[in-house]
Amino acid sequence: KEAFMRQSEQLSTITQMSAGIAHEIKNPLTALKGFMQLGAANPELRDSYNDLLLSEVNRIESIVNDFMMLAKPASSKQLEAVNIKQMIDYVLELYQSLIAEKAINIDTSINCGEYTLESDPNRFKQILINIIKNALEAVEYKGTVCIDVICDYSEAKIVVKDNGKGLSEERLKRLGEPFFTTKKDGTGLGIMVTRKMVDDLGGTIKYSSEEGKGTCVAIAFPM
Ligand code: ADP
Ligand code: MG
Repeated sequence: KEAFMRQSEQLSTITQMSAGIAHEIKNPLTALKGFMQLGAANPELRDSYNDLLLSEVNRIESIVNDFMMLAKPASSKQLEAVNIKQMIDYVLELYQSLIAEKAINIDTSINCGEYTLESDPNRFKQILINIIKNALEAVEYKGTVCIDVICDYSEAKIVVKDNGKGLSEERLKRLGEPFFTTKKDGTGLGIMVTRKMVDDLGGTIKYSSEEGKGTCVAIAFPM
């Protein structure tokens, strides 16, 4: 009976996820179709729709990318020595225009001593991207994002803290639920994908947050 329950629970998760994916992709597709029909009827307007078309195509692409991450088996890991500082610098570089635009203070403190982390660099990078991007999006103009890394013989711990809008207790509980987003152009898939990848790497992830004060995300990986 128990096995049956588990199977039917799995099925209903798959059903919900499929409905969610279909819905999330259908919205931008409908918009694309509409603009293409308008463009066909009014060739002189076609150029002015180009940015809109591109942004809808980008949206479909990011949804599909996130789902491809979920589908990757944990066994496809490629372990190598990962330089945590370099990875963090790379991610901050990716978002330098957002950081400059919002005049965000970035406060990093990295203490890894002689320790090196063996990890899958692609997954590791994607985890940092998802967490740091959320922190940068959560803060107001001139907000602060702190990134602390501490390594010892047993683990590498990375803490990303922001003084942004934070989350109510009710919203905190919903983190990681597929398609849960409070952003106009969010996918609500980032945290779910992050959790899966942290899990693939044998790590842990914890969120704490206070509404109006900020959010703290702590991830730890075994050395
Ligand atoms: P997305 O960023 O596309 O909305 P995520 O799965 O990354 O999807 O995040 C889901 C939701 O969790 C966000 O829409 C936001 O409401 C909340 N959230 C995540 N990180 C933070 C943070 N650092 N501060 C406040 N809210 C956050
Ligand atoms: Mg996100």
